[in-house]
Amino acid sequence: MKTNLTNRLSSETATHDKSGRGKTVDIGGLMHDVDEARIGAEMYSLIEELYPICRSITGNGVRKTFAILKKHIPLKVVEVPTGTQVFDWTVPKEWNIRDAYIKNSEGERVVDFNQNNLHVVGYSIPVRKTSTLTELKEHLFSLPEHPDWIPNRTSYYKETWGFCLTHNQLLSLKDETYEICIDSTLGPGSLTYGEYFINAGSQDEILIFTHVCHPSMCNDNLSGIALATYLANYLSNYSLRYSYRFVFAPTTIGSITWLSINKANLSKIKHGLNVALCGDSGKLTYKKTRQGNTEIDRVVLQVLQESMKDYEILEFSPYGYDERQFCSPGINLSVGRLTRSANDGYPEYHTSADNLNIVDSANLGDFFSTCVAIVGTLEGNQRYVNRHPCCEPQLGRRGLYKSAGGRTVVQDRQLALLWVLNLSDGTNTLLDIARRSGLKFSAIKAAAGELLECGLLEIAERSSVIDASDQP
Ligand code: ZN
Repeated sequence: MKTNLTNRLSSETATHDKSGRGKTVDIGGLMHDVDEARIGAEMYSLIEELYPICRSITGNGVRKTFAILKKHIPLKVVEVPTGTQVFDWTVPKEWNIRDAYIKNSEGERVVDFNQNNLHVVGYSIPVRKTSTLTELKEHLFSLPEHPDWIPNRTSYYKETWGFCLTHNQLLSLKDETYEICIDSTLGPGSLTYGEYFINAGSQDEILIFTHVCHPSMCNDNLSGIALATYLANYLSNYSLRYSYRFVFAPTTIGSITWLSINKANLSKIKHGLNVALCGDSGKLTYKKTRQGNTEIDRVVLQVLQESMKDYEILEFSPYGYDERQFCSPGINLSVGRLTRSANDGYPEYHTSADNLNIVDSANLGDFFSTCVAIVGTLEGNQRYVNRHPCCEPQLGRRGLYKSAGGRTVVQDRQLALLWVLNLSDGTNTLLDIARRSGLKFSAIKAAAGELLECGLLEIAERSSVIDASDQP
């Protein structure tokens, strides 16, 4: 049975008191327990399971990944044929790879795809040949500044081949003849994306997007896949005000393809988040939407401020991840981007060192509960109307002066009631009231709940008419 977010306060508080585990975050304006440690550990396990798979912008690696995600959420998998026109782009040929190596004159594999799938330049065309070291070096890529790391390289739109290796491996290659094999296929097929829709009965949707096209690297992009999967699973247990659409697609061509196919329905998307890089030790970083001051921008800012942790807000720029497509001028959706470190913001980014040591279950759990708080604030951010706006209504006879703990708590609660009554004229959202009062969104939401229950407030969306004659 689904749980209504607005009916969980007492039971969740009790659970929290009894178990002593988990962290309390605001959802729907109410205090809600997220077992951050457990969910972070489960996300980490999913990352471990997905880590060995060689993914790319097309091919069986993405399909295998989706088959694993289907154990958690009923993902709908969509195949878009090679050659499909999507805005100014064309869905590319499908790439798959079975094996690849460089063998020395003694027949030893000195570079081996089976040891690490980053060893092959993504989208390498099939190759079988012998080569001198000089010829081979034109197709080798390493990182001299990090001699033990393998770089991640791709060539999606120019047909070529290559190997990536550690700089120490490169330096150890002798001047001899090498046998080169890339056992790949590049031909007509399809681009694969996954979608999971939580239909709350509302036409208004919130979009959560994450990219799925990277081979064995953890923070970018397995952490985003794990986050979106666990958030989708979690939200599916609640009664929600918005419907939620989770999209898992390759970066750039995947979001462009999805936007092109779904162009007629984009007006339903009221808010969105592109999530990625969820598990590193960097502070939470939010990149604003192109419009710069939309509801999602203000909600994320509020949640990050209330977290009392270090965070960073970036202005929009047309460089980065798939928010570029969602925020292109002809699409212009209210989609921001939440990461820990920004893209390219840590040394291990796009290398073999972005491995299971870079992501941490505590950081994953913290990112998860931040997303729950964002969703909860969006869900709870409604407008209300004070039904008794001429002078203060008499709160005492409605039982709204009851003591709820220490003096500060009582004062905040009373203040929240007065602010909500004062600013609920049908124009201010609860977030507007939280900003103006300086009180926490959860306090404002809780006050609105109490006032609604005793009939002093009504939801503005239902009726914005203030009946001034109905006074006590
Ligand atoms: Zn990347």
